[in-house]
Amino acid sequence: MSERTIFEKIVDGDIPARVVHETDTTLAFLDANPLAPGHTLVIPKERYKRLRDTPPELSADVFETVRELAPVIEDAVEADATNIGVNDGPDAGQEVPHLHVHIVPRFKDDGGGPIHAVAGAPPDLDDDELDVIAEEISTAAKDA
Ligand code: AMP
Repeated sequence: MSERTIFEKIVDGDIPARVVHETDTTLAFLDANPLAPGHTLVIPKERYKRLRDTPPELSADVFETVRELAPVIEDAVEADATNIGVNDGPDAGQEVPHLHVHIVPRFKDDGGGPIHAVAGAPPDLDDDELDVIAEEISTAAKDA
């Protein structure tokens, strides 16, 4: 694997982070450039670039940590709601090649948008095209 990522350096204790929670396999720390108070990243301690690369048990651990932490963070910063997301691949905006889940607390009237705002212009797909896409995915999912 290439040079250690900044998140591996955090796991190894070589650079500081505001760690808020730790399990045997996952680490959660505040994002250094928060989109909101309490913006937290949850990572597997072992580095995998993307969700597709991450072993099932480890990705389950990551999402279990997210499930536990999101309401704790929301309550701690007195937020009203939370967005949870992964930039899964460089073309989706992933800058650090080490899987991480963003937990972003949201506040009523904070001026932000829903997760629907992340993609480009919505495609104009007719029913036939949607049927083909659904069939392709469901067929591929049987082999996943
Ligand atoms: P992404 O674009 O999904 O790869 O997001 C990477 C995130 O890591 C960004 O939100 C950065 O602000 C955050 N980040 C980068 N370096 C650090 C660091 N040393 N400690 C905490 N968060 C960081």
